[in-house]
Amino acid sequence: MREQILLLEQLQVIDDQIDRWERDLARLPLETQDLARSLVSIRREVTQARERQAELETTQKKNEKDLAAEQEKIKRSERRLLNIKNEKEYNALSKEIKLGKKVVAEIEEAVLAAMSEIETLKTSLERKDKEYEELEKELLSKKSEVESTVSQAEVALVTLNEEKERLTESVEKELLKTYEIVRRARGNALAELTNGSCTGCHMTIPAQLVISVLKQEEMVICPSCRRVLFVKPENIPEFNKLDT
Ligand SMILES: [Zn+2]
Repeated sequence: MREQILLLEQLQVIDDQIDRWERDLARLPLETQDLARSLVSIRREVTQARERQAELETTQKKNEKDLAAEQEKIKRSERRLLNIKNEKEYNALSKEIKLGKKVVAEIEEAVLAAMSEIETLKTSLERKDKEYEELEKELLSKKSEVESTVSQAEVALVTLNEEKERLTESVEKELLKTYEIVRRARGNALAELTNGSCTGCHMTIPAQLVISVLKQEEMVICPSCRRVLFVKPENIPEFNKLDT
């Protein structure tokens, strides 16, 4: 049985390596996708911000023209006001000037608001452009990481699977079945027995089973987590060694 357990230990090492490669192969494309998605969304934000900026700049030009026209109109009215003798006419023109000044104030307010929005947009665009650039770099390096991992994984997995096949040929069928089932459920199928406890689930193992594990004559499964229990050769007491 000791030999069989040793084979399983080797198998577990190989399976762990296979799992690591496969996890990388599954994880890296997802990370690439996430980066690509972030890039798309930043690009969309940049486009929207640029469109808004252009829109504001157009409005701004119109506002400036309107403002100049309105101010010119007020100046003309004020000049006219000096020559008006008729009180009714005077009042009407004064009212018009007052109204014009109100319009001017409103346009000026809009100009200031647009200016500050344009400023904010410019700052945010600068930041987004930088962010985009960095993400793009990250994506490129991620892509090359994926490429190199994929090619390394292909080579490694061929070798590992060959080794696995070679090992499993020598493992008893029932034992292998238990190993595969527990491994799928728990991530690993073997657990070392130390100080009377299973290192897989930390449960105390009944004394009788501990002796069986030490004797290594049969396969002992942890009653709690179903992992195959083993002891390191250096932890087997002398009297047990003599027994086997
Ligand atoms: Zn256990």
